Amino acid sequence: MCGIVAYVGPKQAYPILINGLKRLEYRGYDSAGIALLNGSLNVYKSKGRVSDLEDLIHDLNLSGTIGIAHTRWATHGEPNTVNAHPHYSQSKQIALIHNGIIENYALLRQELEARGYVFESSTDTEVLTNLIEDIKLNEEVDLFEAVRIALNQVIGAYAIVVISKDDPNTLIAARKGSPLVIGIGKDDYYVASDATPIIEYTKNVVYLDDEEVALIRRNNDLKIKTIRNHEKTPYVQKLEMNLTALEKGGFEHFMLKEIYEQPNSIKDSMRGRVHSELGTVSLGGIIDYEQKLLTANRIIIVACGTSWHAGLVGEYLFEDLARIPVEVEYASEFRYRNPVIYEQDVVIAISQSGETADTLAAIELAKSKGATILGICNVVGSSIARATHAGSYTHAGPEIGVASTKAFTAQVTLLTIMALRLAQLKGTISKSRFMQILLELESIPDKVAETLKTSHVVTKIAEQFKDVRNFLYLGRGYNFPVALEGALKLKEISYIHAEGYPAAEMKHGPIALIDADMPVVVIATNRGTYDKVVSNIQEVKARKGRVIAIVTQGDTIVKEMADYVIEIPETEEMLVPLLATIPLQKLSYHIAVMRGCNVDQPRNLAKSVTVE
Ligand code: GLU
Repeated sequence: MCGIVAYVGPKQAYPILINGLKRLEYRGYDSAGIALLNGSLNVYKSKGRVSDLEDLIHDLNLSGTIGIAHTRWATHGEPNTVNAHPHYSQSKQIALIHNGIIENYALLRQELEARGYVFESSTDTEVLTNLIEDIKLNEEVDLFEAVRIALNQVIGAYAIVVISKDDPNTLIAARKGSPLVIGIGKDDYYVASDATPIIEYTKNVVYLDDEEVALIRRNNDLKIKTIRNHEKTPYVQKLEMNLTALEKGGFEHFMLKEIYEQPNSIKDSMRGRVHSELGTVSLGGIIDYEQKLLTANRIIIVACGTSWHAGLVGEYLFEDLARIPVEVEYASEFRYRNPVIYEQDVVIAISQSGETADTLAAIELAKSKGATILGICNVVGSSIARATHAGSYTHAGPEIGVASTKAFTAQVTLLTIMALRLAQLKGTISKSRFMQILLELESIPDKVAETLKTSHVVTKIAEQFKDVRNFLYLGRGYNFPVALEGALKLKEISYIHAEGYPAAEMKHGPIALIDADMPVVVIATNRGTYDKVVSNIQEVKARKGRVIAIVTQGDTIVKEMADYVIEIPETEEMLVPLLATIPLQKLSYHIAVMRGCNVDQPRNLAKSVTVE
């Protein structure tokens, strides 16, 4: 959500800033802006895409070796040009970009208005800009100190970068609750919301921690303080990401590329963790917490969106394999409903970005009650990775398409490994059954590759249904979360209303919707409840609904009944989500493309949801 880029050094800042904003487009935004300091401090901004901003200013003199840039995802005030960042302070001496929400902005604004400040925008951000200016003038302190003092008065979440006309060598950056990374080049500095705009210039980075303020000066060492004025030593880390992961590599969209990456990304999440030759699995990141898992009374999984669906698959896996009770919670509900949490509970927080605001808050709550918190994240060095006691990275590689695909299958892979490990430790699984599942898990990347070949039937179905207004997705057992995820994918990128349901629940409501116009996607691969799913399909057909069925290769019964069938390879029931999800991702993708939707950046959505 929102993107921040800033630069100071010997190079021209504009190309670095604009390219950086393009790298961050995937995070979701509605307007963009840049401030360049070169004698004068000039702010350029525009509603819409980064390319709109580029078109607007490309004829101007954009020279300067220090600048800040932003893509905004509006929280306070319409997504228009006035509300776009950077925001000037009243005297136009200071410009600031911000990701997050200043929760006490109304009070601060009233106080500043009483002191004569006039506001141009409706944002919470402009309030912070003027607060810093006010402190700088009244307390006669430099910009670094003014920012630090101001942030002590702020309630809420922020990642900010500030620039001041009277100091063309300095950027001030700070964070609380929203991510910020500082790239350290040979003789320059880069600041960004994540490492993607930085990677092509340097691999040395410092992740700011909450309530830290950084003084970033040309030709000087980086200096970091907490907002309470304690000096911190910057901890420089090496980025492992590579640039090709951030390019489309010949695919029309990032989402399609990421769908096709899944044989490899699943393999990457298993790498070094699945050892069939030794008959075991391991997760290095949580090895010290295995005992906690063993003695836990229950597991609570907290997540949002697609990660929550992965969590549901996790629930079935942990209960099935390791016989431990699991609750799967929406982080946003969990954090506000006074949940019962015991010290013996293990909380697993799942988030692709590792920055999901609600999940972070849920972690803090569970931590305060003494529970053990494990994280499953994709983005290395992210806030959740640092806020948890231990955890494992999914290693799916950067996911740029806003609708999550490969991160989901990587999360499910990791949860499978975790559940297997726990089952092995607890002795709730026989050696032979364990080996059977392990070997099957190892064959999943090849089976995903095979599943990806079902293109022409999927495009045919997409062509047929691209103009409908509603979709229903049904599944039972392990396929229930798959139905939810299939429906979510379609909603996200094609804007068609879709509902996922446990197949048997259809009778309790959704069946009323079924008529000849209603496509119903049924995931009908289950062995245990196959006959029941067949009955559910009959119920749909009896009401003239049109059935698109995902079946196991060689299926004959459902094939007879369904209007369209997509075959997937045979596998263990608990591993079906890793295969059945693939055609559903592709179906959503093709429908969205046929409807002319912006697949990689669907309207109103953000990749990393850093506000609650
Ligand atoms: N709350 C700020 C605004 O609405 C920042 C939003 C963002 O994170 O982009 O302007």
